[in-house]
Amino acid sequence: AVRERTEQLERIAYVDQLSGVLNRRGFIEAFMQEERRMAPEAARPGLLILDIDNFKAINDTHGHVAGDEVIAEVARRLLDVTREEDLCARWGGDEFVVILRACDFRALAAVGEKILDAVRVRPVELPGGDRVPITTTIGAHLVELSDTLESAAGKADTALYAAKRQGRNRMVIYDLAAHGSATAVSRVA
Ligand code: GH3
Ligand code: MG
Repeated sequence: AVRERTEQLERIAYVDQLSGVLNRRGFIEAFMQEERRMAPEAARPGLLILDIDNFKAINDTHGHVAGDEVIAEVARRLLDVTREEDLCARWGGDEFVVILRACDFRALAAVGEKILDAVRVRPVELPGGDRVPITTTIGAHLVELSDTLESAAGKADTALYAAKRQGRNRMVIYDLAAHGSATAVSRVA
C-alpha cells in the first residue's frame, strides 16, 4: 500500500493535471535519463518546443476555461501523432515539449510537420458549441553530446522565436552548421 501510494504521488508530481502529459519536472527527469543513454556514435534525440499561436486572444475571446480546454486538446493531438517512446510534456503556459528518441534532421522535420498538421487540421469544439481554429509554432533542435538541458532548450527556443517572427504556424530547426542561426525547414500551410 505504501509503495502504491508513493507511485501515485510520483505520478502526480510528474504529470500535468490539466493536460495529462508530463509536467516540467517530469520532463527534466526524462531528459536526464535520455542524456545518460547518449553515446558518441548513437543517433541524437530531437527536441521540439511547440507554442500555441495567439493563445491570449483565445483566452480573451472565449474565456480561461475554454483556453484550458484548448490546452488539453493540443495535448491529445500531440499524443495522437507521437509514438509511445517519444516523450511529450507541458513546458508551461501554452507551451509543450517533445523528445524524439534516436532522431535525425529528416525525422525531426517530418514529426514537426505532422504535429503542425494534427493541430491545425480542425477547430477545437468547445462544450458550448463554439469552434476555435488553432495553430502552433515549433522550434526544434537535434540534441548534441555537449548540450545540457538548458542549452538544448535554449536552442529550440531560439528557433521558436525565429518561427514566430516569420509568421507562426510553421517550424524552424536550430542549425548549428549555419553558425548558430535558425533555419526554416517548412512552409506555411
Ligand atoms: P504567440 O503566438 O506569440 O505565442 O502569442 P500568445 O498570445 O500565445 O503568447 P503569450 O505567451 O503572450 O500568451 C500565453 C498566454 O497563455 C498568457 C497566459 O495568460 C495564458 N496561459 C498560461 N497558462 C494558462 C493556462 O493554464 N490556462 C489558460 N487558459 N491560459 C493560460
Ligand atoms: Mg503562444
